[in-house]
Amino acid sequence: MKKPIYLDYHATTPVDPSVLEAMLPYFSDDFGNSASDHHYGIKAKRAIDNARKQIADLINAKPDEIIFTSGATESDNTALFGVAEKFKDKGDHIITCKTEHKAVLDVCKKLESMGKEVTYLNVDKYGVVGLDELKDSITERTVLVSIMAANNEIGTIAPLREIGKIARENDVLFHTDAAQAVGHIPIDVNKMDIDLMSISAHKMYGPKGIGALYVKGVPKTKVNPIIYGGGHERGIRSGTLNVPAIVGFGKACEIAKKELKSEYDRLSSLRDKLLDSLKKEFPEIELNGHPTQRLPHNLNIYIPGINSKALQNITKDEVSFSTGSACTTHETKPSHVLAALGYDEERSKSSIRMGLGKSINNDEIDFIANKIIESVNSLKRLK
Ligand SMILES: *Cc1c(COP(=O)(O)O)cnc(C)c1O
Repeated sequence: MKKPIYLDYHATTPVDPSVLEAMLPYFSDDFGNSASDHHYGIKAKRAIDNARKQIADLINAKPDEIIFTSGATESDNTALFGVAEKFKDKGDHIITCKTEHKAVLDVCKKLESMGKEVTYLNVDKYGVVGLDELKDSITERTVLVSIMAANNEIGTIAPLREIGKIARENDVLFHTDAAQAVGHIPIDVNKMDIDLMSISAHKMYGPKGIGALYVKGVPKTKVNPIIYGGGHERGIRSGTLNVPAIVGFGKACEIAKKELKSEYDRLSSLRDKLLDSLKKEFPEIELNGHPTQRLPHNLNIYIPGINSKALQNITKDEVSFSTGSACTTHETKPSHVLAALGYDEERSKSSIRMGLGKSINNDEIDFIANKIIESVNSLKRLK
């Protein structure tokens, strides 16, 4: 049986074949610990240094500003807990927004239980935070603004430059969860005044279980560690480095830098074509998220009158898409992101997220569109 077409690139991506190839020697021949001072260690250290540079190059950072972590979840935890702890004498207030990933929201809840104050900014109907509300929320006690670069459900891209500028002018650190953005849209940590940024390799054709926290300048002046031990990663993140995964992450960044522009153009036009085909058949379909300020590979749509789980079920042998954010699909709760946009439960239950990626071509878009049209029609007939 043919495998279904994968349309869930926001949940994870396959490892690029050249990423895998770059990783392989570091599992076997070059298995050294990068902290060892001998032949094997030096070889591993060189590979780590190279990867650090490849990652820094993609976001216009310096290699020393990259801290390896197990992924964006850990990076988010380190950024929020780490800044809160480091700056506890300066203040106890953090600003974030309602549409963040759980890796930020759940840390914020924990910080509140520890006595910190958190402001959850509203978003407009497209999922964009209000810059005036942000400005008005900053107080003397604010230490951090954490706003995601691009939303994992609806693909809305935040006005990073403007947010960075506001944070900088008010002497507040700016963290962004860029797990969905890095490798897909241009990110420049300097131009955007980003102080801390979470990155995940597996959202950009690298391996799972590896990511980074970018910290501007000297990391230990901005964050305290949450994991203690041998003092790796300039004391911010102890633990023997996962050399093969880091090598793969670096390679994925090198490839992304080369292919970003062409993939951006290719995927955004395929995405638009898919939406046009569906809307031609069902004009009642509405887009969730921003019409233009969105990730090139994200399509999240509301199909009125259609239960998204039922649609997922009857198309499951041909297409794999998501009906909510991957991290909340095991619950039946409506999406907190769509709720923050002001949509009701009915809209949440009738929305699907399609994430496009490298393996998707024009023929597949036609196939997917036909499959969804046929399935929506058959669900309508059942009513
Ligand atoms: C996937 C994702 C995460 C979690 O990343 P992991 O590397 O899987 O821990 C965090 N934030 C956003 C926006 C994501 O899309």
